[in-house]
Amino acid sequence: MDDLTFCREVLDTISDSFCGAKWYNATIWLGSGQTTSCHHPPAHAIDIEAVKLNPKLLHNTAQKKQDRRDMQEGRRPAGCEYCWKIEDMGRDAISDRIYKSKIYEIVDLHQAARTPPDQDIDLQTLEISFDRTCQFACSYCNPAFSSTWTKDIRNNGPYQGLVSDGRNHFTHTHDSAQLFRFGESNPYVDAFFAWWETDLHRTLEELRITGGEPLMSGHTWQLINWFRANPGRSKTRLAINSNLGMDWSTIQRLLDSCQGIDLDIYTSNEAMGSQAEYIRDGLDWQTWNHNVQKILDHEDAPVRAIHSMCTINALCLESLTEYLDHLLLLKRIYGLERVNFTLNILRFPSFQSPLVLPREIRDRHRIRLITWLETNRDNPVLHEHELNHVQRLIDYLDVVRTPHSEAFDQLRLLNDFYRFYDQYDQRRGKDFRTEFPRLQEWYESISV
Ligand code: SF4
Repeated sequence: MDDLTFCREVLDTISDSFCGAKWYNATIWLGSGQTTSCHHPPAHAIDIEAVKLNPKLLHNTAQKKQDRRDMQEGRRPAGCEYCWKIEDMGRDAISDRIYKSKIYEIVDLHQAARTPPDQDIDLQTLEISFDRTCQFACSYCNPAFSSTWTKDIRNNGPYQGLVSDGRNHFTHTHDSAQLFRFGESNPYVDAFFAWWETDLHRTLEELRITGGEPLMSGHTWQLINWFRANPGRSKTRLAINSNLGMDWSTIQRLLDSCQGIDLDIYTSNEAMGSQAEYIRDGLDWQTWNHNVQKILDHEDAPVRAIHSMCTINALCLESLTEYLDHLLLLKRIYGLERVNFTLNILRFPSFQSPLVLPREIRDRHRIRLITWLETNRDNPVLHEHELNHVQRLIDYLDVVRTPHSEAFDQLRLLNDFYRFYDQYDQRRGKDFRTEFPRLQEWYESISV
């Protein structure tokens, strides 16, 4: 069933705000004790005392139960604005509500629709973060998700003069993201392993470990060791979100440890070469590309596929189509199923959104994407969802005016764009003007 038909004939017959992710999927940050349904809605707190008695409440929070009630009754939870913005573009735009529901059995979606909203639900897919340790400090990340970002703020102080950043991403070290010291007992982590041991290892179809950089967390290896020590006890597929920016020896350790386990690797990137290195501070393009290809070349690697997660921001558009061509090349070499991509449109921090760009630059990117899509529409190595992601980005660049409902003042966004990258250059030893020459004139114009 194609995506649009699935939306109309399955989801919308339940309600036109229904999304299976609210029941069967969660992202949980154990370092901060927060969760959300997918990565779009804002995170909210998990009751620390409640999970000591019932670890299922790591997922089944009061907030999610209210959202489920709203979805069953056809109301749109405000936190899911990302999807409503895409759907309100018209043009039969496919939001993540469809992609993130389509992975579940239709019978399970109907079951969710019938289940009382305050009932605890067993997860089918879970993204878990143990802590924020990471050797990268990407421009669109912040100290809540990266210990290297924390060091930047600790050593250099807050970024100055940002006026649109209502969430204060770049003004403090986000110590609430890491409530417990290393070595100290964390009740959220304890609850996760208790839930894993009793139920999760049986109900979960996919467990995706994120970070920080998860390969730098001891808990990641603890979990992988559980799989090794309990062969055949769990059918859960394992996935890792890794920046793949480390020495090969760590990746080799991962591959060796995961023998006999279905492993998917998700890795972020959205631009080519030094532009990618500018956006994702800490990335070495050659190392990343070498690691990706070595994993795919590895005959005994337990890796089913490498998934490129592209965070679509204002800067990556300069080389996005070249990057997509690079992925096409890998797809041709290694196969349709072994290399995949998704285009996820950045909303926070809003001043890095593609929508800060002036109309003529956005149109230049949009036309290049249209040409790319027309050239590749019948390319057999592309999935339907990949074509749809490119199409929805084209529509987004054309139709959507503001990154999200709180970010509508373009002058404030432009102020922050310039001020942020000016300070980012000084702190990280980078040079915006050299790296993005086609943006230079516009960049100068917003510097005053
Ligand atoms: S943001 Fe979209 S995909 Fe995520 S839970 Fe809400 S409706 Fe589902």
